[in-house]
Amino acid sequence: MIKRKKSGELIIISGTTCAGKGTVVKELLKRNENLKVSISYTTRAKRDGEIDGEDYFFVQTDEFENMIANGEFLEYAKVQYDKYYGTSKTQVKKMLDDGYDVILEIDVQGAQQIKEMFPQTILIFIMAPSMSEVKRRIKARGKETKEQIIERFTVAYREINEISKYNYVVVNDNLDDTVSKVEAILISEKCRVDRIEEISVENQEEIIHEFLIDKDFNNEPLKIED
Ligand code: 5GP
Repeated sequence: MIKRKKSGELIIISGTTCAGKGTVVKELLKRNENLKVSISYTTRAKRDGEIDGEDYFFVQTDEFENMIANGEFLEYAKVQYDKYYGTSKTQVKKMLDDGYDVILEIDVQGAQQIKEMFPQTILIFIMAPSMSEVKRRIKARGKETKEQIIERFTVAYREINEISKYNYVVVNDNLDDTVSKVEAILISEKCRVDRIEEISVENQEEIIHEFLIDKDFNNEPLKIED
Protein backbone atom coordinates (compact mmCIF):
# COMPACT_ATOMS: atom_id res chain seq x y z
CA MET A 1 0.00 0.00 0.00
CA ILE A 2 2.85 2.32 0.78
CA LYS A 3 5.51 2.83 -1.83
CA ARG A 4 8.79 4.12 -0.50
CA LYS A 5 11.58 5.73 -2.51
CA LYS A 6 14.11 3.20 -3.78
CA SER A 7 17.07 5.41 -2.91
CA GLY A 8 18.26 5.68 0.68
CA GLU A 9 18.32 8.64 3.06
CA LEU A 10 21.24 10.90 3.93
CA ILE A 11 22.04 11.08 7.63
CA ILE A 12 24.56 13.51 9.09
CA ILE A 13 26.18 12.72 12.40
CA SER A 14 28.25 15.52 13.86
CA GLY A 15 29.42 16.04 17.38
CA THR A 16 31.80 17.64 19.76
CA THR A 17 35.30 16.28 20.07
CA CYS A 18 35.49 13.12 22.21
CA ALA A 19 31.71 12.74 22.19
CA GLY A 20 32.25 9.21 20.94
CA LYS A 21 30.45 9.66 17.62
CA GLY A 22 32.90 7.35 15.82
CA THR A 23 32.02 4.51 18.20
CA VAL A 24 28.31 5.29 17.88
CA VAL A 25 28.56 5.10 14.08
CA LYS A 26 30.49 1.80 14.20
CA GLU A 27 27.83 0.28 16.46
CA LEU A 28 25.01 1.56 14.23
CA LEU A 29 26.66 -0.08 11.21
CA LYS A 30 27.05 -3.35 13.10
CA ARG A 31 23.37 -3.41 14.06
CA ASN A 32 21.82 -2.16 10.79
CA GLU A 33 22.52 -3.86 7.47
CA ASN A 34 20.86 -1.09 5.52
CA LEU A 35 23.28 1.56 6.79
CA LYS A 36 26.59 2.54 5.19
CA VAL A 37 29.08 5.24 6.10
CA SER A 38 30.81 7.50 3.62
CA ILE A 39 34.60 7.42 3.87
CA SER A 40 35.89 10.98 3.64
CA TYR A 41 39.02 12.33 1.99
CA THR A 42 41.39 14.33 4.17
CA THR A 43 44.75 16.04 3.99
CA ARG A 44 45.49 15.52 7.68
CA ALA A 45 48.17 13.02 8.71
CA LYS A 46 47.18 9.43 9.44
CA ARG A 47 47.06 8.68 13.18
CA ASP A 48 48.41 5.49 14.75
CA GLY A 49 46.07 2.61 14.04
CA GLU A 50 44.18 4.35 11.22
CA ILE A 51 43.86 2.57 7.88
CA ASP A 52 43.88 4.35 4.51
CA GLY A 53 40.60 3.64 2.70
CA GLU A 54 38.90 2.55 5.91
CA ASP A 55 39.08 5.51 8.28
CA TYR A 56 39.76 8.10 5.59
CA PHE A 57 41.33 8.34 2.16
CA PHE A 58 44.53 10.21 3.08
CA VAL A 59 45.65 12.48 0.24
CA GLN A 60 48.08 15.37 -0.36
CA THR A 61 46.79 18.95 -0.51
CA ASP A 62 47.40 19.31 -4.29
CA GLU A 63 45.43 16.10 -4.95
CA PHE A 64 42.56 17.34 -2.75
CA GLU A 65 42.57 20.73 -4.52
CA ASN A 66 42.46 18.97 -7.92
CA MET A 67 39.44 17.02 -6.72
CA ILE A 68 37.79 20.30 -5.66
CA ALA A 69 38.51 21.76 -9.12
CA ASN A 70 37.00 18.65 -10.77
CA GLY A 71 33.81 18.96 -8.67
CA GLU A 72 34.35 15.57 -7.03
CA PHE A 73 33.10 16.61 -3.58
CA LEU A 74 29.53 16.74 -2.34
CA GLU A 75 30.88 19.06 0.37
CA TYR A 76 34.27 19.91 1.79
CA ALA A 77 35.67 22.16 4.50
CA LYS A 78 38.81 23.10 6.32
CA VAL A 79 38.02 21.69 9.72
CA GLN A 80 40.99 21.63 12.08
CA TYR A 81 44.56 22.92 11.82
CA ASP A 82 43.78 24.16 8.29
CA LYS A 83 43.36 20.60 6.98
CA TYR A 84 40.82 19.73 4.32
CA TYR A 85 38.07 17.14 4.80
CA GLY A 86 35.60 16.21 2.03
CA THR A 87 32.80 13.82 1.05
CA SER A 88 33.05 12.01 -2.28
CA LYS A 89 30.09 12.63 -4.59
CA THR A 90 30.35 9.32 -6.54
CA GLN A 91 30.78 7.19 -3.41
CA VAL A 92 27.67 8.62 -1.73
CA LYS A 93 25.56 8.59 -4.92
CA LYS A 94 26.35 4.89 -5.52
CA MET A 95 25.36 3.88 -1.96
CA LEU A 96 22.11 5.91 -2.09
CA ASP A 97 21.22 4.51 -5.54
CA ASP A 98 21.80 0.99 -4.19
CA GLY A 99 19.13 1.76 -1.57
CA TYR A 100 21.39 2.19 1.47
CA ASP A 101 20.90 4.92 4.05
CA VAL A 102 24.20 6.77 4.19
CA ILE A 103 25.83 8.31 7.25
CA LEU A 104 28.10 11.29 6.77
CA GLU A 105 30.24 11.82 9.85
CA ILE A 106 31.13 15.43 9.13
CA ASP A 107 31.52 18.80 10.83
CA VAL A 108 29.01 21.67 11.13
CA GLN A 109 30.27 23.50 8.01
CA GLY A 110 29.82 20.39 5.87
CA ALA A 111 26.43 19.69 7.47
CA GLN A 112 25.25 23.16 6.51
CA GLN A 113 26.34 22.70 2.86
CA ILE A 114 24.55 19.34 2.61
CA LYS A 115 21.39 20.68 4.28
CA GLU A 116 21.18 23.50 1.74
CA MET A 117 21.53 21.04 -1.17
CA PHE A 118 19.34 18.28 0.29
CA PRO A 119 16.84 19.68 2.84
CA GLN A 120 15.48 16.17 3.54
CA THR A 121 18.78 15.18 5.22
CA ILE A 122 18.46 13.97 8.82
CA LEU A 123 20.88 15.95 11.00
CA ILE A 124 21.92 14.50 14.36
CA PHE A 125 24.34 16.09 16.81
CA ILE A 126 26.06 13.89 19.41
CA MET A 127 27.16 15.63 22.60
CA ALA A 128 29.51 14.49 25.33
CA PRO A 129 27.85 14.54 28.79
CA SER A 130 29.91 17.62 29.75
CA MET A 131 32.94 19.59 28.63
CA SER A 132 34.84 18.58 31.77
CA GLU A 133 34.27 14.97 30.70
CA VAL A 134 35.69 15.90 27.26
CA LYS A 135 38.74 17.42 28.98
CA ARG A 136 39.19 14.21 30.96
CA ARG A 137 38.91 12.04 27.83
CA ILE A 138 41.39 14.16 25.82
CA LYS A 139 43.90 14.14 28.67
CA ALA A 140 43.49 10.38 29.09
CA ARG A 141 44.20 9.91 25.37
CA GLY A 142 47.38 11.92 25.88
CA LYS A 143 48.18 12.11 22.17
CA GLU A 144 48.05 15.85 21.53
CA THR A 145 49.92 19.02 22.41
CA LYS A 146 48.31 21.74 24.55
CA GLU A 147 47.86 23.92 21.41
CA GLN A 148 46.07 21.10 19.62
CA ILE A 149 43.78 20.48 22.59
CA ILE A 150 42.94 24.19 22.81
CA GLU A 151 42.11 24.16 19.07
CA ARG A 152 39.82 21.15 19.65
CA PHE A 153 37.98 22.99 22.45
CA THR A 154 37.63 26.14 20.35
CA VAL A 155 36.07 24.13 17.51
CA ALA A 156 33.85 22.22 19.97
CA TYR A 157 32.43 25.39 21.57
CA ARG A 158 31.90 26.92 18.10
CA GLU A 159 30.03 23.78 16.99
CA ILE A 160 27.80 23.71 20.07
CA ASN A 161 26.67 27.23 19.14
CA GLU A 162 25.43 25.85 15.82
CA ILE A 163 23.27 23.09 17.29
CA SER A 164 20.05 24.81 16.19
CA LYS A 165 20.93 23.83 12.60
CA TYR A 166 20.41 20.17 13.53
CA ASN A 167 17.15 18.23 13.85
CA TYR A 168 18.19 16.12 16.86
CA VAL A 169 20.69 16.21 19.69
CA VAL A 170 21.68 13.10 21.63
CA VAL A 171 23.84 13.16 24.77
CA ASN A 172 26.19 10.20 24.71
CA ASP A 173 26.46 9.15 28.34
CA ASN A 174 25.92 5.47 27.57
CA LEU A 175 26.78 3.88 24.20
CA ASP A 176 23.86 1.44 24.13
CA ASP A 177 21.27 4.11 24.97
CA THR A 178 22.76 6.52 22.45
CA VAL A 179 22.69 3.96 19.64
CA SER A 180 19.08 3.05 20.51
CA LYS A 181 18.10 6.73 20.48
CA VAL A 182 19.67 7.26 17.05
CA GLU A 183 17.94 4.12 15.76
CA ALA A 184 14.62 5.42 17.12
CA ILE A 185 15.19 8.71 15.29
CA LEU A 186 15.85 6.87 12.03
CA ILE A 187 12.77 4.65 12.44
CA SER A 188 10.54 7.70 13.06
CA GLU A 189 12.05 9.60 10.15
CA LYS A 190 11.34 6.64 7.83
CA CYS A 191 7.63 6.84 8.82
CA ARG A 192 7.31 10.51 7.95
CA VAL A 193 4.61 11.16 5.38
CA ASP A 194 6.90 13.42 3.35
CA ARG A 195 9.34 10.51 2.86
CA ILE A 196 6.68 8.31 1.27
CA GLU A 197 6.58 8.39 -2.52
CA GLU A 198 3.02 7.14 -2.96
CA ILE A 199 0.11 5.75 -0.96
CA SER A 200 -2.24 3.57 -2.99
CA VAL A 201 -5.36 1.94 -1.58
CA GLU A 202 -7.92 -0.33 -3.22
CA ASN A 203 -10.81 1.36 -5.04
CA GLN A 204 -13.47 2.50 -2.55
CA GLU A 205 -16.54 1.46 -4.63
CA GLU A 206 -15.10 -2.00 -5.27
CA ILE A 207 -14.40 -2.53 -1.59
CA ILE A 208 -17.96 -1.49 -0.60
CA HIS A 209 -19.47 -3.63 -3.37
CA GLU A 210 -17.46 -6.70 -2.27
CA PHE A 211 -18.64 -6.07 1.26
CA LEU A 212 -22.31 -5.78 0.26
CA ILE A 213 -22.31 -9.05 -1.68
CA ASP A 214 -20.32 -10.93 0.94
CA LYS A 215 -22.53 -13.96 1.78
CA ASP A 216 -20.38 -14.97 4.71
CA PHE A 217 -21.01 -11.72 6.49
CA ASN A 218 -23.28 -12.28 9.45
CA ASN A 219 -25.60 -9.32 9.72
CA GLU A 220 -27.11 -10.31 13.06
CA PRO A 221 -26.74 -7.48 15.55
CA LEU A 222 -24.45 -8.35 18.37
CA LYS A 223 -26.45 -9.43 21.46
CA ILE A 224 -24.94 -8.94 24.80
CA GLU A 225 -26.40 -11.24 27.45
CA ASP A 226 -27.22 -9.73 30.84
P1 5GP B 1 39.29 13.89 12.93
O1 5GP B 1 40.48 14.57 12.33
O2 5GP B 1 39.30 13.90 14.42
O3 5GP B 1 39.10 12.50 12.35
O4 5GP B 1 38.00 14.69 12.47
C1 5GP B 1 37.88 16.05 12.74
C2 5GP B 1 36.54 16.56 12.30
O5 5GP B 1 36.39 16.46 10.89
C3 5GP B 1 35.34 15.79 12.88
O6 5GP B 1 34.44 16.75 13.44
C4 5GP B 1 34.71 15.12 11.69
O7 5GP B 1 33.31 15.00 11.84
C5 5GP B 1 35.07 16.08 10.58
N1 5GP B 1 35.03 15.45 9.25
C6 5GP B 1 35.43 14.20 8.91
N2 5GP B 1 35.23 13.98 7.61
C7 5GP B 1 34.66 15.10 7.09
C8 5GP B 1 34.19 15.49 5.79
O8 5GP B 1 34.25 14.74 4.81
N3 5GP B 1 33.69 16.74 5.67
C9 5GP B 1 33.61 17.61 6.72
N4 5GP B 1 33.07 18.82 6.47
N5 5GP B 1 34.02 17.29 7.96
C10 5GP B 1 34.54 16.05 8.15
